[in-house]
Amino acid sequence: MASAMSEEFEKFRLKIRNFVEKELDPVSIKIEQDTKIPDKIVDQMRQLGLFGLSIPKEYGGLGLSTIEEITIYEEITRTNACHRSRIGTSNGIGSMGILYDGTEEQKRKYLPRIAAGEWTAAFALTEPDAGSDAANISTSAVLKDDHWVLNGTKQFITNADTARVFTVIAVTDEQKRARGGVSAFIVEQGMPGLSIGSADLKMGLKGSHTNEVVFKDCQVPKENIIGGMEKVGEGFKTAMSVLDKGRLSMGACALGAAQKIMELCIEKIKNKIIEGLQKKEIQAIQFDLADMGIQIYAARQMLYNTASLRDHGGNITAEASMVKVFCTEMASRIAEKAIDIFEMDGCLTSNQIEILLRDVRLYRIYEGTSEIQRIIIARNLLKK
Ligand SMILES: Cc1cc2nc3c(=O)[nH]c(=O)nc-3n(C[C@H](O)[C@H](O)[C@H](O)COP(=O)(O)OP(=O)(O)OC[C@H]3O[C@@H](n4cnc5c(N)ncnc54)[C@H](O)[C@@H]3O)c2cc1C
Repeated sequence: MASAMSEEFEKFRLKIRNFVEKELDPVSIKIEQDTKIPDKIVDQMRQLGLFGLSIPKEYGGLGLSTIEEITIYEEITRTNACHRSRIGTSNGIGSMGILYDGTEEQKRKYLPRIAAGEWTAAFALTEPDAGSDAANISTSAVLKDDHWVLNGTKQFITNADTARVFTVIAVTDEQKRARGGVSAFIVEQGMPGLSIGSADLKMGLKGSHTNEVVFKDCQVPKENIIGGMEKVGEGFKTAMSVLDKGRLSMGACALGAAQKIMELCIEKIKNKIIEGLQKKEIQAIQFDLADMGIQIYAARQMLYNTASLRDHGGNITAEASMVKVFCTEMASRIAEKAIDIFEMDGCLTSNQIEILLRDVRLYRIYEGTSEIQRIIIARNLLKK
């Protein structure tokens, strides 16, 4: 599949790999201590166009296909996952609702700024009582004259502290709820009644922040409903279509991390472990390495195949869930196995394996846990 990509894209991919090795890798461990990506790196990411990978060229982005975009994610997640997360919401959940269902005016107003990295975009769906059960959200939006008035609390919102624009999912009809009573809003930082809580202290993705987002009589102009007034009640569909693509991206991130972990294991085995080991032990380690190779190969085929299906207009709801479960669980297994190979060295906070192990665990939670993906997959299988 990768060989079908253009020469121009291949050059871009290599440029990103070079950027990862020269600029991102050296700051990876410091970010874990500072819990912040240096501003210089964010500027470099802007200049490379990394905030607009998936935004069409006519709106200022690079207009990459799905398969190209996930290839770039694979490259960027070969290092500290927070870098991908910093650009991920602008390329994905924070902007795709506007791209898929927004009015032309909304696309022209927001997408070029998001693509340029000038305005970070975020997506606010999860609430204290509505994570997996997204239909249970209670944030409400009531139309009063020429404004929507939003009330409620969202939690774990990636990039909320740097976001200038949020896609917010709220209930507009309490009776209908997920069946025509939920709408998607574009809320800008600075609108009265919007406030951001402090950053959550997480086990991984430390340089990428998640925060609470609170709406207290927050006033949002009437026209800021995604798609305009005729799309009132259609926000749940918007949210779900945004998540389909997000799940593929998560798969790509997990794959990039797994590939990097395997490469670090190969280096370790070649350079250090072999000396002093018995033949039996060497074979056991080789079997572990072979299993890593098999799983990564299978994951890559699944991911690329599903991305290609999406690029050809196919419905990928079930497949995207399969990819997310397989790739993210595979990455966790590989990270665990890498600790067996590295032993104490792999547990040191100065070791990249230690960072990757914590980061990949989180991939199994966001954009839907493994259990929720399995429910989606089973539902689709039973429908067929
Ligand atoms: C790093 C990170 C970034 C995030 N960024 C965002 C963001 O930008 N925007 C946003 O809106 N949200 C974001 N989230 C929130 C994320 O989407 C939720 O955490 C996730 O959907 C799970 O919800 P929850 O944490 O409330 O867990 P719960 O829904 O409470 O689930 C708890 C456990 O119960 C299981 N479970 C729940 N329902 C069922 C069921 N029906 N059958 C079987 N098992 C079930 C779950 O699988 C899980 O194991 C982020 C989360 C993380 C970790």
